[in-house]
Amino acid sequence: MSWRVRLRLFGLALVVVGLGGCYLRDAYRSSLRPPSSVKPREYVVVTTGYCPCSECCGWTRNWWGRPTYASGPLKGKAKKVGQTASGAMAKPGTIAADTSIFPFGTVLYVPGYGYGRVEDRGGDIKGYHIDLFYRTHSAALKHGRYRERVKVWLPEDLRGGGVP
Ligand SMILES: [Zn+2]
Repeated sequence: MSWRVRLRLFGLALVVVGLGGCYLRDAYRSSLRPPSSVKPREYVVVTTGYCPCSECCGWTRNWWGRPTYASGPLKGKAKKVGQTASGAMAKPGTIAADTSIFPFGTVLYVPGYGYGRVEDRGGDIKGYHIDLFYRTHSAALKHGRYRERVKVWLPEDLRGGGVP
């Protein structure tokens, strides 16, 4: 094999590894970014992780084996697994929060998790506590429970576009 061929193969390998890396990163991290013109607010909140499973999302199977709400006003009603309270499907970057504090559409930056947006609510998610979506239960558990400083872009700040 000539050195030219080797160099070409090496270049091709770099491209494949590079693209593969981006793809994997996107699968676990949200690509969402708030506009740089809007200055974030800072809050100290408790963060936990969740996944679409029955344990994390409070659903159970009915007699027919269909997922249904386990409690609350929708108890017994059919539940679409993975669908958030705002109707969107949950994905990495989906955050559940107390929407009286962080309304739907609030963008957050959480160290170690990255950017996310409030699109969900949870029975146990009250006050300054946010729940971060992970694809698997083990990843959600691995996140643990932290009190940490997060950056917050409230919808009212985003609407203003940061123009004073
Ligand atoms: Zn789970």
